[in-house]
Amino acid sequence: MSTDDTLLPPDAAMADSALRPVLRLILGDQLDPLHPWFAERRDDVVYVLMEVREETDYVRHHAQKVLAIFAAMRRMAQQLRAAGHRVRYVPIDAAYNRHSIAANLQALVQHLNAAAVEYQLPDEWRLDAALRRWAATAPLPVRVVDSAHFYLPRDGAARLLGPRRWVMETFYRAQRRRFGVLMSGNHPAGGRWNFDADNREPWRGEPPPPPDTRPRHDVRPIWAALQRAGVQTLGNPQADALPWPLDRAEALAQLEAFLAYALPHFGRFQDALAHGQTRLFHSLLSFALNVKLLRPHEVVARAEAAWHAGHAPLAAVEGFIRQILGWREYVRGVYWAHMPGYTAHNALGHQRPLPRWYWSGETHLACLRAAIGQTLDGAYAHHIQRLMVTGNFALLAGCDPAEVHRWYLGVYIDAFEWVEAPNTLGMSQWADGGLMATKPYASSAAYLQRMGDHCRHCRYDPKQRTGERACPFNALYWDFVARHRERWAAHPRMGMMVRQLDRMDADTQRALRAQAEQTLQWVDTL
Ligand code: FAD
Repeated sequence: MSTDDTLLPPDAAMADSALRPVLRLILGDQLDPLHPWFAERRDDVVYVLMEVREETDYVRHHAQKVLAIFAAMRRMAQQLRAAGHRVRYVPIDAAYNRHSIAANLQALVQHLNAAAVEYQLPDEWRLDAALRRWAATAPLPVRVVDSAHFYLPRDGAARLLGPRRWVMETFYRAQRRRFGVLMSGNHPAGGRWNFDADNREPWRGEPPPPPDTRPRHDVRPIWAALQRAGVQTLGNPQADALPWPLDRAEALAQLEAFLAYALPHFGRFQDALAHGQTRLFHSLLSFALNVKLLRPHEVVARAEAAWHAGHAPLAAVEGFIRQILGWREYVRGVYWAHMPGYTAHNALGHQRPLPRWYWSGETHLACLRAAIGQTLDGAYAHHIQRLMVTGNFALLAGCDPAEVHRWYLGVYIDAFEWVEAPNTLGMSQWADGGLMATKPYASSAAYLQRMGDHCRHCRYDPKQRTGERACPFNALYWDFVARHRERWAAHPRMGMMVRQLDRMDADTQRALRAQAEQTLQWVDTL
């Protein structure tokens, strides 16, 4: 850190000049060097970045998440200084750090005799509310600018979809048309909007997943600072070889590696699970996107160009683009249309605590052991692991969605509430009563067995529904259907499962209920 990193004593350069500076706050997920702010260098602007306990402590985070965000912030500060900008950086272990963004801002305003404060619209309600509260009583003008990152403004999806029931596919098609992505005139390229049906193959060992070419960073000094400051984290810090991109150049290199090696197979194996494989053909780009080292437009444009160049099939490219142009923008719309309050939803009235092994990975269930183990080790699991393994189990077991939400918000490298909460509470736990997902993503062992090979490495048998070796997903699935029978009976897609349950004889139903009860009683030992 340079000497410019102190909040106090007085800033010599500022004292010499009669300039009252404008402070521009850069949050930890606003690390976009292409933001219009940086187009010109101004002597009267001081960029402010701060590491605060308020942000490290609102849930317990994976160590890699805190390290990667702080390391990328420090890199951004260095690069801004190198480009001639003025920067104030408040490290986590500085004695003068007040550990709240508002309190630090207030101190800096006084200390530098600032003329105004500017900030980019935060993506999370928590920060948005804190900054609005501070601005309302701040003794100087406070201006807000857009982060210039997303395709749509925060209320863009709400304006597009209006009060009717939101359907992601409708939104996605409108996005394709509006931004001219994968279009051939007025029609979708290849004659179809959606290639999902082609994208559901399990992976059987071929082709080999691409090598992980991400750079490794020694961030042990930041880890030491976190220890000094007393920040509590979880998971493996990998502080001597942190595998996440810390600046735009590294993020772009990762994007290019994905396009070259993984994108061609992304679609086919998008829903696959595989023992010993932590990412298969997924991009690992969510961290870079969410802290804004990459722009969604450029990722989408590069993927589309790969199809035009004949490098990747349309089904793969469409599947990938849908995640970014569709899902990512859609969940942000859901979040901002329903906050505050969205995170308190619990439509199914689930109350059970998460099994203890969500924090250790120590369970005999092979799929859960793999997903949780790699999460604690690497702060990453791909979508199907999050949705159909950890999420599915928590849903079937009736775990408290607020606790499930805190778990997901803490453990993943890419977890920011605007994207995590709709995915967890809406898509995965159905806690919002179907605002996000038309049907709950609940399945028995059959789905897990079809999409992967974990069952071959598991103590439990996916074919058995009752007995000591029965896979717990089976009885829990039918118990979930039975527990919420009234709700599902009239549901267009779950009604079929209620009818299937009703066709089982009374003994089978009793045995399934008893098995589920026993499973839940001993859930910590599974
Ligand atoms: P890829 O599979 O390569 O997909 C490419 C990109 O598309 C991702 O980087 C991401 O930016 C975007 N994307 C894909 N799916 C979604 C989605 N459902 N919603 C929004 N964007 C999506 N994603 C987060 O970014 N942060 C989270 O905190 C988060 N929490 C989740 C919690 C649950 C319970 C579930 C089911 C999903 C969650 N997701 C979250 C969505 C998705 O699982 C991750 O974006 C994805 O696994 C990140 O890995 P990747 O970069 O390799 O993605």
